[in-house]
Order: sequence, then structure tokens, then C-alpha cells
Amino acid sequence: MVHWSPFVVSFKKRYPWVQLAGHAGNFQAGEYGKLLKRYCECEQMCLQKLMGDSLRPFVPGYYGVVQQDEQEYNVMDDLLADFDSPSIMDCKMGSRTYLEEELVKARERPKLRKDMYEKMVAVDPGAPSEEERVQQAVLKPRYMQWRESLSSTATLGFRIEGIKKSDGTCNTNFKKTKQREQVMKALEDFVDGNIQILRNYLHRLEELRSVLEKSEFFRTHEVVGSSLLFVHDATGQARVWMIDFGKTVPLPPPLTLDHRTPWREGNREDGYLWGLDNLIQIFSEMLPT
Ligand code: ATP
Ligand code: MG
Ligand code: MG
Repeated sequence: MVHWSPFVVSFKKRYPWVQLAGHAGNFQAGEYGKLLKRYCECEQMCLQKLMGDSLRPFVPGYYGVVQQDEQEYNVMDDLLADFDSPSIMDCKMGSRTYLEEELVKARERPKLRKDMYEKMVAVDPGAPSEEERVQQAVLKPRYMQWRESLSSTATLGFRIEGIKKSDGTCNTNFKKTKQREQVMKALEDFVDGNIQILRNYLHRLEELRSVLEKSEFFRTHEVVGSSLLFVHDATGQARVWMIDFGKTVPLPPPLTLDHRTPWREGNREDGYLWGLDNLIQIFSEMLPT
């Protein structure tokens, strides 16, 4: 059984910083209000370009690369810094969570993965095929596609990765949260039924959508595995940012995406805006009319 728990790291006793996804150890505290994330060139390229794009207010500010203990890091804003005991949610956007190039690579050089087989069996013992059972292993694309079919990624174009509430309760077990009603319940719980916070989030999501629809960066990139980070606190302040650009890659010109057209291999569409449309729709439905 695979257990996921978010990593609560105390940054020099300033305040408990919370990481809802990824590997512990990928992040370090920076100077006040800054965060160091293990260097990734792809992410650096994106953050640099985003600093000059209309999306800038919706991403953490980027401050270049630093080296610490033989490891390089990208320096960015810590989005939790302005909040008091925040509640946090990581929502992974898009209808697909692997890049087309990963699929191509995996096909050219198929690698049987025992670790992924084990993760699969832990969630659903009936999931592996006869052949996979004999091999006690699965291919990576098959694992990724199976995972997507379990959660709301394939059906709604986003999935909740984790939620940590201000009261300290954490949940990163949303792997099988798939139905609209299940998602709504999780969101309801996340905001503790606070209508004003729901309204503020909805407003911020609508703003983000209209900026995304015009962004040059967004039109010219395949955005995969990127998340929306939702943060609110008891003051009623509620904001949303785009994070995690480790799998956001530029398209070969003149190709552009609308991020809503369904994916067929080769068209590079990622379903990001389709997912955001669904998320906005769900938030709207949760508000009293
Ligand atoms: P994965 O690819 O598995 O999702 P990762 O190593 O690329 O993980 P991120 O997804 O970027 O890491 O971040 C992991 C978590 O760290 C987020 O869910 C969030 O809780 C926290 N986090 C990331 N960036 C920031 C930020 N700028 N400010 C505050 N918290 C952040
Ligand atoms: Mg992430
Ligand atoms: Mg990542």
C-alpha cells in the first residue's frame, strides 16, 4: 500500500511550510518570502518567459538560480508567505499528465516497471492484465493512462492532488476522486462551506481564464503536470496561482494550442482550459443562486 503524506517543513522556525506534492527534499527555504526548488531547466525557461507574459500575476515571481550544497535551485516566491495559517489545495490541471514526447520515448524503448505495477495493484488488484500479471510489471504509458482513468483527470480535465487545511488536517488521497459530486464534496470541505471564500476563488479563476485565453506563452506551450495552487486563510483572502512547470514545453512554431480540443496523439492538446472550464462550472454550482 502506498501512502502519501504532505511534507510539513519548518523553515527556520518562521512558519510551517507545506508541500502537497512532489518529493520531499526538492524544496529549501530561501530568503524571507522566497522558496528554492530543485533546478530543472525546463522550469527555468518557463518561469523566465512567464515574467514577461500577461500571466505574470498568476505565477510565483522568479529570481534566477542559486547553488546550495552542490545542488542548483530555481528561486521563486513562496506563495504562502502572506497568509496566516493558510488552507492549501494543489489541483493538477489538464486531461493528460504525460508529455507526448514521453509517450514516444516509452514506445521506442519500452521499459517494464515493477514499481508502477506494485502501485497499480495497491490501488486496484484487478487492474493488471494477464500479461502484466505474468511480468509483474507494466509499461509507463499504460500506468499513466490507467491512473488518469481512475481520477477526474480524464473526465474533468483536472484532479485534486492534495488539500491541507488550516486546522492541520491533510488529505492527499484523492487518487480515486473522479465524480463531479466527489470533487464538489472535497471543495466544500476545503472551504469549510464559506461562501465568501468560494466567491473569491471563483472570481480569481475567471480572471485567470480570461488572461490564459490571451496569453502568448500559453498559446505556444504544451502545459502538462502543472497545478493550480489555491490558498486562503481566515481573513477571507483567497488566491490561485499556476505552479510546477517541469513538464511545460514550447511547441514547434507555428503550432499553437487552444487547450480545449480533445487530445489525439500528435495534436499536443493538453485539455488545460477544458479542465479550468469544468472547475469554474463546479465552483459556480456550489454557490447559492
Ligand atoms: P510533482 O511534479 O510531483 O507535482 P514537483 O517536485 O514538481 O512535484 P511542485 O508540484 O512544484 O513540485 O510543488 C510541490 C508542492 O510544493 C505543491 O503542491 C505546493 O504545496 C508546494 N509549492 C510549490 N511551489 C510553491 C510556491 N511557489 N509557493 C508555495 N508552495 C509551493
Ligand atoms: Mg506538482
Ligand atoms: Mg513537477
